Amino acid sequence: MSELLDTSIKERLWHKMRAYLTKFVPEIANNRLLMCCACGRFLPQDDFDLEHVIPQQALREDPLEVRNDPATPRNVRARNILLCRKPLLYKNSPLHGSGCNSWKGKHFDGPIADILSGRAVTKSEDKRLYNTHIIGGLILGYLAMVEEFGYITTLMKSGLLLREQFFNPHRFHRNLGSRYQILLSGAPATTVDDPTWSKPFTFKLEHDACYVTARNFVITLPISRDPLAPIAHHLKFAPSRYKMRPDFGTSLT
Ligand SMILES: [Zn+2]
Repeated sequence: MSELLDTSIKERLWHKMRAYLTKFVPEIANNRLLMCCACGRFLPQDDFDLEHVIPQQALREDPLEVRNDPATPRNVRARNILLCRKPLLYKNSPLHGSGCNSWKGKHFDGPIADILSGRAVTKSEDKRLYNTHIIGGLILGYLAMVEEFGYITTLMKSGLLLREQFFNPHRFHRNLGSRYQILLSGAPATTVDDPTWSKPFTFKLEHDACYVTARNFVITLPISRDPLAPIAHHLKFAPSRYKMRPDFGTSLT
């Protein structure tokens, strides 16, 4: 039952994400490919897998009443996107035997589950978070932004920085400012009526930052433009310099 549900969610996401990407890359309307929002490869549908943005190991730790609540099934609590499962190569040599989906699981799902459960702080001897937790939080924030705002998150300049961070799980990217290396976390929710079960992410945009709240933590992500600002997709000519006022250029020369 749950596998069937996952298949239909995967199919729906495939069409939704392709429609969104077509706005920026019209060429894909004529093929059957999608860009992986982590590695950037254009791949066919079979090379993608459903990705639970809130990792499955964290979902399994949710309170029993929440897991049994028909209003908050696993896929609602997780939020989903597609990530590739095709083996990763670096300079034509194997980097990882599977794709970005498994890479996220290997490097980030553990640290993310530790923050979401509150363990990251309680288990740590000096009660602080480590870089792997903060980088895990950044990656979760990036994927949540892709789910919320679509491919603009990936295609703007800050998206490239975050994608490079995805493949550098232990050290902060050299161009990532210190304000983006901070994660604030609190105790996880325990009551069944907590709104974060059905809406795990909220976003607050500023001119160069997006504050992503993921259940019990907040992380700041760099953005190089407002993802909600409209983009001219079919503008062939730049607007005239004198568009809003009379142009006396020809009469004066
Ligand atoms: Zn990928």
